[in-house]
Amino acid sequence: MTNPNGRFGVHGGQYIPETLMNAVIELEAAYNAAKADPTFQAELTELFNEYAGRPSRLYFAKRMTADLGGAKIHKINNVLGQALLAKRMGKTRLIAETGAGQHGVATATAAALMGMECVVYMGVEDTIRQALNVYRMRLLGAEVIPVETGTGTLKDAVSAAMREWTNRITDTHYCLGSVMGPHPFPTIVRDFQAVISQEIKSQLMEKEGRLPDAVLACVGGGSNAIGAFYHFIEDKSVRLIGCEAAGRGVDTFETAATIATGRLGIFHGMKSYFCQDEYGQIAPVYSISAGLDYPGIGPEHAWLHDTGRAEYVPVTDDEAVNAFEYLSRMEGIIPAIESAHAVAHAMKLAPTMSRDQIMVINISGRGDKDCAAIARYRGENISE
Ligand SMILES: *Cc1c(COP(=O)(O)O)cnc(C)c1O
Repeated sequence: MTNPNGRFGVHGGQYIPETLMNAVIELEAAYNAAKADPTFQAELTELFNEYAGRPSRLYFAKRMTADLGGAKIHKINNVLGQALLAKRMGKTRLIAETGAGQHGVATATAAALMGMECVVYMGVEDTIRQALNVYRMRLLGAEVIPVETGTGTLKDAVSAAMREWTNRITDTHYCLGSVMGPHPFPTIVRDFQAVISQEIKSQLMEKEGRLPDAVLACVGGGSNAIGAFYHFIEDKSVRLIGCEAAGRGVDTFETAATIATGRLGIFHGMKSYFCQDEYGQIAPVYSISAGLDYPGIGPEHAWLHDTGRAEYVPVTDDEAVNAFEYLSRMEGIIPAIESAHAVAHAMKLAPTMSRDQIMVINISGRGDKDCAAIARYRGENISE
């Protein structure tokens, strides 16, 4: 669905310094060759199955009467694909940005698996809030560089990683963490995550003999959501619903709901929707969920929004925390607080649907990492 210039409608494109042009051209050529190469596809499928434990099972949530995806962190799909591609390109070093540390840990994991060097850029604020993930990355052999610029959070880490890539493109691949950034990243990351909707579709066909009526997923940059949507985009009967982090509410400044509150802009190499102040500066965003705490959205989602093919809804911290507790109690599944945003909207939507309709919620990760923060949200102090 990408046109040759990497556009999704008016969105996407390549808004980057001249010094990066060669790197993205090289990447696009290498990716197109890899995509068409059965050996690459076979190697990636083997890694998905043998290393990342795919396919994820579609689980029928009896008590919630909803269908749910598996509970592994989806980030590994993207990272295994990119690391394999980088290796094929002769790169020996991976760099990545990370917010809460999930993508950094996934990249460090793939680098260890494939014997590559790894450097992760992380906002200094995040290195303090997510000390355990900093330890994990170092344990996996990665170097973690705290980024002091700006607000010392995810968007600053992305900027630092892009800058570093400009300085060293010969041996280094920038392993971008979501369906964002300049072309060809949004397309590459989407293709690696599309395995999610492929698995949902084939397992649902096997179990129910038909398509779902709705697919729900949380949206930060939008990689787990585009993965869950992709193979249903042409199936017009399937509602595609992206759940954004509204933080304390879309009528406050403490929000990260890009579609609900953002405007068209250019940032991090792409044209898309971004949360901005009245002067067009990227706004500081907030969500209880570090994984959704990004001021933009991937260009393909912006396009799916423009065309009306997908719907985007805001979900507050409060609603997500309630859903986090609800799914734990109801089904014995502790979802990531990111995924709980999709569960929260499912809780609103389910009563409006009829008994024979099928709703799939993508659980993008597990919630072990969030337990201490949710306890704190409820006024309880537990140590990790
Ligand atoms: C990082 C993360 C997200 C958000 O990233 P997307 O690219 O929007 O999918 C969602 N869920 C989990 C568990 C994450 O770690």
